[in-house]
Amino acid sequence: MKKTILLLSVIFFPINSFAQETTQPNIILMIGDGLGLTQITAGMYSNGNKTALEDFTSIGLSKTHSHNNLVTDSAASGTAMASGVKTLNGVIGINTKNQMVKSILEISKEKGYQTGLIATSSIVHATPASFYANVLSRREYQKIALQMSESVVDYFIGGGQKHFTKRNDKRNLLQEMEDYDIVSSLSKFDKSQASKIGLFTNRDEPTRISDGTRIPLKDAVTSVLNQLDQDKKPFFLMVEGSQIDWGGHANEMSYVMSEFNDFNDAIQTVLDYTKSHPNTLVIVTADHETGGLAITKGKIKNFQVEATFSTIGHTATMVPVFTKGPSAEIFSGIYDNTSIFNKMLKVVNQ
Ligand code: MG
Ligand code: ZN
Repeated sequence: MKKTILLLSVIFFPINSFAQETTQPNIILMIGDGLGLTQITAGMYSNGNKTALEDFTSIGLSKTHSHNNLVTDSAASGTAMASGVKTLNGVIGINTKNQMVKSILEISKEKGYQTGLIATSSIVHATPASFYANVLSRREYQKIALQMSESVVDYFIGGGQKHFTKRNDKRNLLQEMEDYDIVSSLSKFDKSQASKIGLFTNRDEPTRISDGTRIPLKDAVTSVLNQLDQDKKPFFLMVEGSQIDWGGHANEMSYVMSEFNDFNDAIQTVLDYTKSHPNTLVIVTADHETGGLAITKGKIKNFQVEATFSTIGHTATMVPVFTKGPSAEIFSGIYDNTSIFNKMLKVVNQ
């Protein structure tokens, strides 16, 4: 019965006004890699005691442990959020019974969603890869790139072009990706009329934002949202602030803070988008905390923060989940990171 109605609507109504009002909400999942509560706190104070996260209406806490380790890595936690299973550290999109699992991006595609992925790392890095790849090791970049080239991702922006073009199998995946318009700049991304568009921001891993050459995450988000908007369909978009984690591993507070600011600006851009597109669920969370950061000193004047790291690795502390928009309230509480998938699935299935 539902199918008949939809079919009629396609025939008799212009799709645009109809689609947004009657279909499922858009979902924008924003993952700050290594973004613990202390990183948020430090970023907030350093920005004059303000963060875009204060506008969210529901807050939850996510338990990040993996199947085999209290301290997760980005592959296991990415898989947990993308596909709802706890797996081994290092594994992407495969459960502990060695079965491939579908991601929320792939499931939403089957439900008529458009899809997008944006990362400030390479697009084959563990976090974005969790949404389209199935590999036993996150280091299998060439295999991940091949799976990306055959994926249902409509729009992507990230680094890592070399994994598509400089390969042991001598294939040039960019030539094989005939359904994609692979562009070389954000302005070309904006002008493209193709149904699938990709932009590589770097041959390898993108530089840090403080170098001044990287595309600000908010600009990448704006361009992808503009393309998604033209499709007049609901969409699933994952946006990763990838290098907050790298700043944590380096125990460099200025690196963490500049990457947090880049991510925070992107959150503000997404919130601005939802003002004109209220049928959009926004989820901001982290895969884990990195660095065991603690604010141990500071000055109330200018909200100056002094922080120390306790490890160069990840920690097992719970991470916050901020939500706003339709069904935001189902994300309040304390739950496993796999529940983020289950809750998003509920939204997609409604
Ligand atoms: Mg990551
Ligand atoms: Zn890490």
